[in-house]
Amino acid sequence: MSEFPSTARVVIIGGGAIGVSTLYHLAKAGWSDCVLLEKNELTAGSTWHAAGNCPNFSASWAVMNMQRYSLEMYRTLADDVDYPMNYHVTGALRLGHTKERMQEFERVASMARYQGLEMEMMTPKEALDYYPFMETHDLEGVLWDPLDGDIDPAQLTQAMAKGARDLGANIQRFCPATGVSRDGDEWVVHTDKGDIKCEFVVNCAGYYAKRVGEWFKPYGGRDVPLTVMSHQYFLTDEIPEIEAWTKENGRKLPMVRDVDSSYYLRQDKHGLNLGPYERNCKAHWVTPQDPMPEDFSFQLYPDDLDRLEWYIEDAMARVPLLGTQGVGRVINGPIPYAPDGLPLMGPMPGVKNAFEAHSFTFGIVQAGGAGKVMAEWITEGETEWDMWAVDSRRYTEHADFDFCLNKALETYGHEYAMHFPHHEWPAARDKKLSPNHDRLVADGGQMGAYNGWERANWFAKEGDDTSEAATETWNRNGPWTARVKEEVEAVRDGVGVIDMCGFSRYTLKGAGAAEWLRTQVAGALPKAGRMNLIYFADKRGRIVTEMSCIRHGEDDFTLMTAAVAQWHDFELLWRKLPDSLELKDVSKEWTSMLVTGPKSRELLDQISEADLSMGWLSLQNGKVAGKSALLARVSFVGELGWEVHVATSDAAEVYTALRAAGATPFGMFALDSMRIEKGYRTWKGDLSTDYTLFEGGLGRFVKLAKEQDFPGKSALQAEADTGSKKGFVTLVVDAGEADAPYMASILKDGEIVGETTSGNFGYRVNKSIALGVVRADLAVPGTKLEVEIYGATYPAVVQDDAPLWDAENARLRA
Ligand SMILES: Cc1cc2nc3c(=O)[nH]c(=O)nc-3n(C[C@H](O)[C@H](O)[C@H](O)COP(=O)(O)OP(=O)(O)OC[C@H]3O[C@@H](n4cnc5c(N)ncnc54)[C@H](O)[C@@H]3O)c2cc1C
Repeated sequence: MSEFPSTARVVIIGGGAIGVSTLYHLAKAGWSDCVLLEKNELTAGSTWHAAGNCPNFSASWAVMNMQRYSLEMYRTLADDVDYPMNYHVTGALRLGHTKERMQEFERVASMARYQGLEMEMMTPKEALDYYPFMETHDLEGVLWDPLDGDIDPAQLTQAMAKGARDLGANIQRFCPATGVSRDGDEWVVHTDKGDIKCEFVVNCAGYYAKRVGEWFKPYGGRDVPLTVMSHQYFLTDEIPEIEAWTKENGRKLPMVRDVDSSYYLRQDKHGLNLGPYERNCKAHWVTPQDPMPEDFSFQLYPDDLDRLEWYIEDAMARVPLLGTQGVGRVINGPIPYAPDGLPLMGPMPGVKNAFEAHSFTFGIVQAGGAGKVMAEWITEGETEWDMWAVDSRRYTEHADFDFCLNKALETYGHEYAMHFPHHEWPAARDKKLSPNHDRLVADGGQMGAYNGWERANWFAKEGDDTSEAATETWNRNGPWTARVKEEVEAVRDGVGVIDMCGFSRYTLKGAGAAEWLRTQVAGALPKAGRMNLIYFADKRGRIVTEMSCIRHGEDDFTLMTAAVAQWHDFELLWRKLPDSLELKDVSKEWTSMLVTGPKSRELLDQISEADLSMGWLSLQNGKVAGKSALLARVSFVGELGWEVHVATSDAAEVYTALRAAGATPFGMFALDSMRIEKGYRTWKGDLSTDYTLFEGGLGRFVKLAKEQDFPGKSALQAEADTGSKKGFVTLVVDAGEADAPYMASILKDGEIVGETTSGNFGYRVNKSIALGVVRADLAVPGTKLEVEIYGATYPAVVQDDAPLWDAENARLRA
């Protein structure tokens, strides 16, 4: 046993696959002065009983990156660390029952191709060559991933532990962390064997992460938004036909995932392993009658096969061999779920020098990639890939107990669900309501959740189909189409209003605030009394975020950003803020309405006290409907307009007056359609750390000549000297029934040359539009490219570097 350390650079709490991989990757990065604490034996949490399935497939670009990295790593890990282990690359068949499912497969296969993976679409008949024991009459088609497989989770963890120890890292087993405290700038992690002082702490405590998270509350932490679900699989006794097939073919059968029925079926030895994600699922340890035990190491829940009855019958109909043998062993174990089922990773919200990586529902396949990402976050402060999809800061205070529980139940029961662009998941809604909520709903508002805030996506009229089923399509058109078009036209020809509750906004004040901000952003600040857009880059010059910067006075700012960016962007400022400055999140105290369209001046003239002749980007304090308001002369839809910012308590009266004066309500779908016509960027779509500011087409917001240094300045200078490898483009796509989704491949002569970062239909220009990033030599107006949309390729043309709608911005400046 290694000697008990009293100091370390990093202490990791939890010795499951994730904690150990984080330790291994820190050691590989040269940070070997790190300690991992495990309360029991390594793998004692969820890891020991995991089935060990290892797919590449994910509809998320970031998660696919992690999984792809893991599988590449696992293929050589045994040799790399000299620890033999069971890893079978069997391939997997993913069964599609519907046209929409096949479109999803096509989209993921296209992303996979971009990441260098070869997934193949095949007919049900072709799939029988891989899996002769399967019924296929009701299938539309099948997706084949040759690199899917399964690994022994305990051996994987032990192999990474060996690799970490060999590089000098320290693992303390049977050594629970019992709490944390601060000593000056350092953390002190307490254990029964002694205290360890360290620079960074990482919560990798799996389903105990909520409990460990409690220790960080005195230092700014929050309730960890995880729910523990029960997840089962069972193993059958040996099946002679499978044994015979395996002997004859010298390999295992591939994995089958019947995602529309919601289960996986895998060969285990010569039997089968069935693992469903059932609708009638169960959360544990969520009531006072069922408290979470102090220690659940290497334990399971009682079997509960009744819950799986429908799935077992469905799987027996699919692979009748399943029914020929009895159930040998049932595994029913705890699995932590974040509300969306993706892990919670990255800087611990609200706490400095603390990180977290937990709530993994697929932590075996993601462990390798997660360890890489965590090591980068800890050692570099930034990651190679944009990791927003799994960033813990995506959940803010709306993620209360009720939200987490109901979302976990919904997500688990729809683990393999498709996420359609016009669909909103119904569970745990109405967490944050605009003062105008009832009015919006009464006007037909079809609501969507944005960081928990309910905004209208579109306004339905009598007789419109507002069912959830109607949104289960990848296609552009649905019951919303006619209404969105009408809303756009009302804005284009008259005046519209959108209630933008939940805009994230912070005040930044104090002597020297302007000078400090200049050292954080790539460009210039507005003059006092004006506003502009400011961009933050990371060390590599990549886009971290965009904020609207409102400058009230020399050192007095309001910074505004997307609703979902609330905690992410606040922390970007807060983590570096000098003590002399005051930064406050005032998102709840204020709210905004965008009043826009050629008749917006006329309308505001009737109900406001303000100088409406002031120009574009001007700011003024005035009154609307008798209420104090900040009027900002900007419009995200590219028409004459004002953002009207008012105290939340005044919002209802202001909105009522705007509507009474004749403003037509419009929703988020219309807003997005119009913003893409102007080439305005979406947060973590077009604006992501996957691109530098230059690659993202934001060069005009970079001032390399300014005297202040700022993150990314030298990298951007180097890029300016040598030229960018990629360029940002607006594409007009001759699309079919669907517009380009996020991360659709862009092709030139069949070769992938870039990807879309957002896509939509522009109703003012009557075109399908995509924004994207392509090889620099192709980012030239007039270049003919193709975009792959759900399996079909469509011609696309690179547009001039100007908005498609109102290229001169004359309407905006009117
Ligand atoms: C039935 C089932 C099947 C699954 N199948 C798959 C699959 O096929 N593929 C896949 O990718 N994933 C699968 N999973 C999910 C997978 O098991 C988890 O995602 C993964 O194990 C999570 O690893 P972890 O390191 O985050 O957590 P854990 O393995 O739970 O590790 C956390 C560790 O922290 C320790 N700990 C907690 N508190 C403290 C403390 N105070 N001090 C010190 N140590 C502490 C615990 O003892 C534990 O060992 C399955 C899960 C279940 C339940």
